[in-house]
Amino acid sequence: MADVKTETMGFEAEVSRLLHMMVHSVYSEREIFLRELISNASDACDKLRYEAQSNPDLMAGAGDFGISITADKAARTITVSDNGIGMNRDDLISNLGTIARSGTAKFIDQLTGDAKKDVQLIGQFGIGFYSVFMVADRVTVTTRKAGESEAWVWESKGEGTYEISAADKAAHGTDIVLHLKDEAADEYLDKFRLKKIVTTYSDHIAVPISLAVTGAEGENQEAMIVNEGSAIWTRPKADITEDQYKEFYHHVAHAFDEPALTLHYKAEGMQEYTVLLYVPSKRPMDLFDPARKSRVKLYVKRVFITDDSEELMPGWLRFVRGVVDSQDLPLNISREMLQNNPTLARMAKAITKKLLGEFEKLAEKDSDKFLALWEEFGAVLKEGIYEDAERRDQILKLARFRSTGAEGWTSLADYVSRMKDKQSAIYYVTGTDEKAVARSPQLEGFRAKGVEVLLLSDAVDDFWLQMVTDFEGKPFKSITRGACDLKDLAPDDKADDAEKPTEGAMTTLITLMKEVLGDRVKDVRPSDRLTETAACLVADDTGMDMHLERILKAHNQIDTVTAKVLEINPGHTLIRALADKAGAKGAIDSLSDPVWLVLDQARILEGDPLEDPAAFAKRLSAAMAKGLAA
Ligand code: ADP
Repeated sequence: MADVKTETMGFEAEVSRLLHMMVHSVYSEREIFLRELISNASDACDKLRYEAQSNPDLMAGAGDFGISITADKAARTITVSDNGIGMNRDDLISNLGTIARSGTAKFIDQLTGDAKKDVQLIGQFGIGFYSVFMVADRVTVTTRKAGESEAWVWESKGEGTYEISAADKAAHGTDIVLHLKDEAADEYLDKFRLKKIVTTYSDHIAVPISLAVTGAEGENQEAMIVNEGSAIWTRPKADITEDQYKEFYHHVAHAFDEPALTLHYKAEGMQEYTVLLYVPSKRPMDLFDPARKSRVKLYVKRVFITDDSEELMPGWLRFVRGVVDSQDLPLNISREMLQNNPTLARMAKAITKKLLGEFEKLAEKDSDKFLALWEEFGAVLKEGIYEDAERRDQILKLARFRSTGAEGWTSLADYVSRMKDKQSAIYYVTGTDEKAVARSPQLEGFRAKGVEVLLLSDAVDDFWLQMVTDFEGKPFKSITRGACDLKDLAPDDKADDAEKPTEGAMTTLITLMKEVLGDRVKDVRPSDRLTETAACLVADDTGMDMHLERILKAHNQIDTVTAKVLEINPGHTLIRALADKAGAKGAIDSLSDPVWLVLDQARILEGDPLEDPAAFAKRLSAAMAKGLAA
């Protein structure tokens, strides 16, 4: 060899600071050093692959691309080798002696010297090659650039200087040897641990990665290939069978159902990324987990970054599974850095838009399939109406509802098309389960007059209704809150009127009831929403709707529940009988029990607990005894 001289060089000041931080790192995810090395190695292969297209000589004599990891237990080293592009002396100095990446200086400036605070920054910035110093106290890089005859060795302890000298290396590519730091790093000599790290982070690196552990008695073995080696989403759609798509769905989603929808496309232009997403046909187990986490895997240039990004997929699309692979995000991006990342935000927005577009297409082309999807995930999609102002109208159009006016599901547009001539509002009732909601007494009058009411029973319904004032100019109106304008929609049946108490008798009864019930009710008034039931409760016009109030109370969001309006049905025998007697002397005493029973049964109908069950039982028994004795 012509030159045996070893040169010692100082790291750029910024690198020194970065290295200091690595060496003293308290960063919990030290294992990521391997991901960084594999990712660099894979890049080096990609670069050579690209260069060799115009200069095939570069590859002369070289076999297939590959990355190998060898752990030597006796020497306590890990070697990561690739047969990629390699580096010459200048490359080594500029790549592993300085920090060329833009934004790095700014990053370094933010370092405080406080290990705890800086560790956050490591995550935010990503650390690349220098992360090796989290686990190694000496690193040797032996490398030869493709097409060049000289090889070089770079060595450093990560303490301000590095050495470069000429080396022997038969083939192009790079060998990086990590001399592990302390016992704590010994976990990286373990075959299973290493394999796990590779499959977790680098399974879909398209270059085969082999792993071997040597230097320990009885453990020397043949190297084995540990990664899948191919990234399905990078392949053209035409080359992928339906079964392969399904297999990958099972793998990526840890699910066993059929995907209801598969979306595979490549975005090019302002941003470059590949999307392979699936909508399951069955609800994942954690669908209603309060964390509302997305499980979509984020890759950057085929390197796995995270499956835990809140930024990639909004909470209301958390049932979507699959992979998004960005070409634009930095490879060393970390979970912490994903927060408030504008590139990611732009990509996420475009993907959300695309998904909604797919749902719209499906709703149009194959409504049965769409309804099956809605059945499973509608309750989650509706969260988007609540929290995504930009997508609100679009989701409202997609949304399907149970209704008194249609079998199965209906859209709002269809509801509107069936509205009565004089009807100005979209009526709805909310509750905890579909069947109970359909039995709401407040529905009676609407049913009798053929006015359609949406039956809403998802927890989220009460919330999105707070955010939405109307659909195409038609306001939403709860049938359990405020006055009811049914009379205006269809005239009252005159024949029925003859059966009802006079207005005077009703006024007397109402006055009496208010006196008996006191502050337990906000008001008592005749109802035109009841036809069969004697009485029901509704929320005051200015108050909160009843079901919402109940939810908030159950979650301790509010302390007290406000008094309700008691509506009584003048056409009901019981109310008629009460009205008949309300004017008599001493009625306030004799009617007190029946009046309380009217209120209590209205509460029972709402599923509300009785204030005084013992008093209720006593009154009911007395009333029954009296009835039986008569
Ligand atoms: P990044 O990969 O983000 O650029 P790194 O600190 O990980 O940052 O690496 C710095 C540079 O060193 C790389 O951009 C690349 O040019 C070079 N490099 C690192 N590892 C290898 C390798 N195995 N083969 C060839 N070049 C490499």
